[in-house]
Amino acid sequence: MKRVLITGGAGFLGSHLCDRFIKEGYHVIAMDNLITGDLKNIEHLFKLEHFEFYHNDVSKFIHVPGELNYILHFASPASPIDYLKIPIQTLKVGSLGIHNCLGLARVKNARVLIASTSEVYGDPNVHPQPEEYWGNVNPVGPRGVYDEAKRFQEAMTMAYHTYHGLETRIVRIFNTYGPRMRLNDGRVLPAFIGQALRGEDLTMFGDGSQTRSFCYVDDLVEGIYRLLLSDYAQPVNIGNPDEITIKEFGEEIIKLTGTSQKLISLPLPTDDPKQRKPDITKARSILGWEPKVNRADGLKITYEYFKSLTKDDLFRMAHHKTF
Ligand code: UDP
Repeated sequence: MKRVLITGGAGFLGSHLCDRFIKEGYHVIAMDNLITGDLKNIEHLFKLEHFEFYHNDVSKFIHVPGELNYILHFASPASPIDYLKIPIQTLKVGSLGIHNCLGLARVKNARVLIASTSEVYGDPNVHPQPEEYWGNVNPVGPRGVYDEAKRFQEAMTMAYHTYHGLETRIVRIFNTYGPRMRLNDGRVLPAFIGQALRGEDLTMFGDGSQTRSFCYVDDLVEGIYRLLLSDYAQPVNIGNPDEITIKEFGEEIIKLTGTSQKLISLPLPTDDPKQRKPDITKARSILGWEPKVNRADGLKITYEYFKSLTKDDLFRMAHHKTF
């Protein structure tokens, strides 16, 4: 039985990856310090013989007994609100955290896949963004702590690949949504749906003309799974190229939820990228992958998830302290 370590295993993406690897017959070890992760996301796995949870901070020395075939480094705050609140931890998990994972991988002779991000492209001057684009990042702006940590993480991973011959994979993840997003993580989708459910106006930043391209979580997980098992060590974009303005997105959420509230405009955050859309030519040709779930279907599933949360869930999420 193959054994996989997933850091950030109690988070939004990490927990969906735990589910997928369990389904594929792996022994799954989830590691999380629970700063932004939530045990509720993985509590259904605790009863399984082939699931383990380590309450560890991957930025400190990590020890995992036994063999490991794969390490997936998904630990990191990943929303602008979170990494503004905990900038130092964000920098540490992308630098010290990946160093620990790569060191562990060498000892175990494991393959490493790292979660990188479309944020490595910053506020992009090239549209859509292919992997060859080097980006337009402000290192000292509020997003710098995340963007530069992820860029360093890619550089470190590539150095272990070229210098130590370690097997490595790099996925550049574009905006992803689905069940288990944290209601107060500040991202646009939980923000809008949360506001609609509470009967509040939807807070659109700026005039809403900035664009994003939203990928449903199951599609993303499929792309990551294929990339891990591929033999391609260069970065690969995984995301849904269906681009939409934030204003149109807000209007879709208003229609979906049937709220009588409206979109209101708040100031645009510093360095908020004006446009974002993945070029997925590589994912298509190398992995035979493309997204399957359209936004209308994905949003319906996600809305049902948020509606199904209990009062306790909502309270816990609303008071989840990211520090
Ligand atoms: N956004 C918004 N209202 C919100 C939260 C976010 O209009 O309450 C905008 C934000 O300015 C950005 C887009 O939605 O242009 C996506 O933001 P998110 O934080 O989800 O992710 P990003 O892609 O910026 O990392």
